[in-house]
Amino acid sequence: MSRIFSGIQPSGELHIGNYLGAVKNWARLQHEYESIFCIVDYHAITHPYEPEQLRVRRGAMALSLLAAGLDPNVCTVFVQSQVPEHTELAWIFNTITPLGELERQTQFKEKAQRQESILAGILNYPVLQAADILLYKADMVPVGEDQVQHLELSRVIARRWNAAFGHLTGRRTLDGGDEREEFFPEPKPLLTPTRRIMGLDGQSKMSKSMGNTVPLLDTPDGIWAKLRPAVTDPKRIKRTDPGTPEVCNIYHLHKAFSPIATVEHVHNQCTSAGWGCIDCKKVLAESMETELGPIRTRAAELEAKPTLVDDALDAGAAKCRRLARETMDGVRDRMGF
Ligand code: SF4
Repeated sequence: MSRIFSGIQPSGELHIGNYLGAVKNWARLQHEYESIFCIVDYHAITHPYEPEQLRVRRGAMALSLLAAGLDPNVCTVFVQSQVPEHTELAWIFNTITPLGELERQTQFKEKAQRQESILAGILNYPVLQAADILLYKADMVPVGEDQVQHLELSRVIARRWNAAFGHLTGRRTLDGGDEREEFFPEPKPLLTPTRRIMGLDGQSKMSKSMGNTVPLLDTPDGIWAKLRPAVTDPKRIKRTDPGTPEVCNIYHLHKAFSPIATVEHVHNQCTSAGWGCIDCKKVLAESMETELGPIRTRAAELEAKPTLVDDALDAGAAKCRRLARETMDGVRDRMGF
């Protein structure tokens, strides 16, 4: 069975943006692949943070991942810092990665534009990502289009390391050189139909820092309090104005949460001014409750028995430490340590 690896920042409780954009998909993929999901707390410290908050957010993320459907009996969930080999392999990869390749990464350029002083950790972030993936020799990484460049760097690093340190196979390459083993398989993108969910302000991507999210475990009243004032089609001013669903975030949320027949009904009602936006949002709130209610129930069960989450993370870390040590034994041997 092919192995997949993916990571998520310990940003606290999931919100519907990262649930729909990644985790819902992982819950499906865990039944199709040997799946390793990592809470990447080493990545999270490239921004200023409070240590106590990091612990709280990591715990909340773990709980919401399990509540959202990751089953520790089916997949592996663990915390990155419980497996120190991630940083060891990242250091090794730093020594074979030219600075220019890192400076060309789009995400680095965007962050560098916004900050006066850039930490080396932000520049080297994709090297740690490569180490995360290659440590487990993952065959595939579920990614959205915007992450393909980072994954490409992981592939380049794997190729470069294999060419420098892989054992000779005794065979010749097509161009007459000595063939080396593929110690690190080049991870392929598993392009998945992820949904980029806009924030409730309709302005920017849903993110906690923008305060435009719906927490995954929010109560029905809490969800309604956020949906009610949410931005819709800005040209639909009066109830009698027909709307354009495609420009409305509420419609896109319907596509994520409502049955197809309801989505069609929403489209018809909107374009014909058959209902007002509040009517539309009420239907959305019902659809969301159908999907999120059971998640909230699972979260409450896990909250009542926190050892279930801790045990899942411990077992995940134990398995990953075993895999990581195996890989690092091979790396150390081949690199002369
Ligand atoms: S009716 Fe629904 S889809 Fe149309 S603009 Fe209002 S909220 Fe958006």
